[in-house]
Formats: sequence, C-alpha cells, structure tokens
Amino acid sequence: MTLAYDSNDISKMPLDIGGWLKKKNKGNPHCVLCNSILSVRNLHNDRDTHFLHGANSQCPSVASINVSSSYLKNLPKSRGASAHVRDFVRDNLYGVFSRMRAVLSAITWLEFKECCENAKRLQVWDLVDLPVELIPYVLLTCKDSFPVSKYRTHSASFFLEPNPSVGSYWNFSPTRKRIIYEVRGQSGTIVAHEIDATPAQGSVISQIIALL
Ligand SMILES: [Zn+2]
Repeated sequence: MTLAYDSNDISKMPLDIGGWLKKKNKGNPHCVLCNSILSVRNLHNDRDTHFLHGANSQCPSVASINVSSSYLKNLPKSRGASAHVRDFVRDNLYGVFSRMRAVLSAITWLEFKECCENAKRLQVWDLVDLPVELIPYVLLTCKDSFPVSKYRTHSASFFLEPNPSVGSYWNFSPTRKRIIYEVRGQSGTIVAHEIDATPAQGSVISQIIALL
C-alpha cells in the first residue's frame, strides 16, 4: 500500500510514506481504498519503510480479486431511486463519457457501454441518494478492470474513497466524496484523481440522435 490518510485528518488527504513520516501529531494510518488501519513497517530503515495491511486483508490492493464494484452490493437501494441519474446519463452521454475519459484517457465507447450494462445489472439506478455529479465515477467502478490495450499500457481499476466516519456513503460532513483512486496493473501503483463535483453536462450526442 503506497497511500494512507491520517485518522486525525478530517480532510483525509492521501499521504505517501514520506509525507506520513514528516507529519506531526499523527493518528493511525488508514488505507485509502478499504479504510482499514495500516501498520508502518521498517520504521527505522528509511529505504524500506512502508504501509502494510493486516493478515487476511480483503483490500483490493493486496487481494487477488480486484472487485471494484463490490461496494455497490451493500448500499441501500429502492426501485427507481436513481432513475433521474440514469435519465441524466441518457441526456448527457457525451458529457459523462468525457468526464470518465478525463480520468481514464484511453476509455472507449465500447467500454462505456460495458460500464452501463454492468450498472444496470448492479442496480445502480436503484441506489438511494446517489449524487448525479458522481455518476461518471460510479460508472468507472462498475467495470472491475480496464485491460491493457493498444492505447493503454497498464490495466486499471477504480475505487471511490471510503467513508471514514459516520454519515451516508455518498455524503459525509462537511463534504462528499472528492477522490477516486486508480490502482494500476501488476505494480499496484495507486493514483488519486480529484472528482469534478459539477454535473457532467454535454448533450451533443443526444442532440444528434434527436436530429436523425
Ligand atoms: Zn486497503
């Protein structure tokens, strides 16, 4: 695990091991993906100091199963609760695709279609309180892994930042989710992408379809 946040830090800023060691008045390091408490290993050996999960961790960074979408299973759902979010995607296909492409540059329209197929199967449109601004990022987590391709040198999986404190999954005081993490291929490198909290508007495709 290469990134952690401090349990004393309400902003949950991700830190690498160097940033962690420099920090004063630290709490416990928490995993930015699975939210579990990490230990710091080899503290007195500068070259090898690193964060480590406990035994039997199910964290996607260490488990062989890279299941980005597993969090969706346990969230509250009610039939049609996010139908308005689905309608937003339908009306703003280009905007939503562009927002996903800003995080994963080589995403194709076929992969976008696959994300939408999975979203339907995973009952994303029944999620309670899903903010419309987050839908491009939720769709990225609906595909467990984006494989290496002609235009992509590493596979990629996506995870929304966990909720470290009381509050609903999507919104926690004083803000809502701000980061989506990308776990890259075999190396397990973690990249933090800032979430754009504005609606992903862009209706050119819908306008063209309406014209024809
Ligand atoms: Zn973890």
